[in-house]
Amino acid sequence: DLFKRHPGELAAYPDQEKYLFYQTKKEQPIIAGAEGIYMWDTRGKQYLDGCSGAVVNNIGHGNRRVIAAVERQSRQTFFAYRTQFENRPSQELARQLVEHSAPHLNRVFFVSGGSEAVESAMKVCRQYFFNLGEGSRYKFVSRVPAYHGSTLGALSLTSYAPLEVAFKPLVRDNPKIPAPTCYRCVYHKQYPDCELECAWALEKTVLEQGPDNIAAFVVEPVGGASTGALVPPDEYFGIIQHICRKYGIFLVLDEVMTGFGRTGKLFAYEHWGVQADVVALSKGIASGYYPLGAILTTDEIVDVVVRRGGFAHGHTYAGNPMACAVGQEVLRVIMEDKLPENADRMGKILLKGLNRLGRKHRFIGEVRGLGLLTALELVRDPQTREPFPPEWNAAMLLTDNAFADGLLIYPRRSINGLYGDHVLVAPPLIVREAQIAELLEKLDKALTRTADHLNA
Ligand code: PLP
Repeated sequence: DLFKRHPGELAAYPDQEKYLFYQTKKEQPIIAGAEGIYMWDTRGKQYLDGCSGAVVNNIGHGNRRVIAAVERQSRQTFFAYRTQFENRPSQELARQLVEHSAPHLNRVFFVSGGSEAVESAMKVCRQYFFNLGEGSRYKFVSRVPAYHGSTLGALSLTSYAPLEVAFKPLVRDNPKIPAPTCYRCVYHKQYPDCELECAWALEKTVLEQGPDNIAAFVVEPVGGASTGALVPPDEYFGIIQHICRKYGIFLVLDEVMTGFGRTGKLFAYEHWGVQADVVALSKGIASGYYPLGAILTTDEIVDVVVRRGGFAHGHTYAGNPMACAVGQEVLRVIMEDKLPENADRMGKILLKGLNRLGRKHRFIGEVRGLGLLTALELVRDPQTREPFPPEWNAAMLLTDNAFADGLLIYPRRSINGLYGDHVLVAPPLIVREAQIAELLEKLDKALTRTADHLNA
């Protein structure tokens, strides 16, 4: 039905490989349209978007209110350069973001994507310490595994070998601590007897590096692409917050994937009441309707940073009026349609269904997640938790099988051979119970086929 209304083109572009190049080379269908949680290609095949693209599209596709906002803004202006004109959408969106975030987060800086947001977070911390005469605080501690983006600065916080090898030495090999991967604990301990050694590793690293050399600890509140919906133990962020405060280092939360209702709260930090000094945002902020990102930070940081001529950082498209007009409408939709609440309710139903699949399919090692950010970790042997060899590309195989059945999920190959493959299941936050049942049915089929292929 949807296809009949939006037939699109019928043939793939013949010279696709001639002009474009990508991270991976793969035959792909051409997108023809999308509505709600469904997408369809130029051949009329329909897909259930079970991962919101790359966990981006929080409000679902084809939202009429956002389309109308784009039309309204396009009649006024698409672009005005920030050093020449301020624009109402960026002022208004900044006000909305401050209104909906924690009371101490009251300043906003706009960018156009997640990596730019992480870079900006790093640079605002660095300039703060520089302005205070503490320029030696230039290192950032992050976690293994982690994903914070692909620009060189953000990549130096990321731990994912396939994206790093060609660029070593990175701008800086920032110190890393282990993520709380309880399913395969690096200390070979069990929670809670472990007493959260992985969180206390931050203090150890800060002391090894010298507290006066550290600017911030950068962390995803719920691990996304890198760790597969890794939810920390409840005490984790209390310990992290304590260590950051004790040594005067900033806590930067990368909420690029978790923000804007994804985990069942508008921001994931709300789950633990953790107070970040800087929060990096993107993805859900404009839900894929336009490139947009931002950092949220405190008056104290901004006051120190602007004292010497302002933040020495910026991008041409920052605070773009069209992007911000889209962001304004997206945020209104998220709040008025109570999408965080729906993500909480539907997330519990999804997790229950995934656990059912976990009991049925032996090669699902662990099911985890929070709200509508969930994942399946795939293992060769559920007893020993041995991962599949990376070259088997088990997560990609499952993703391809799901794709063939018209279901989109988001794969990540076994990281450095140490962690299992996983797939993220993270549909748009508008998803309804019947659609979750449809998603699970398709996933079940794809899992059965993948088990045959892997002999698992
Ligand atoms: N940070 C996190 C937590 C992410 O998940 C991503 C992207 O997946 C990024 C940063 C980088 O965002 P972008 O791809 O928009 O540069």
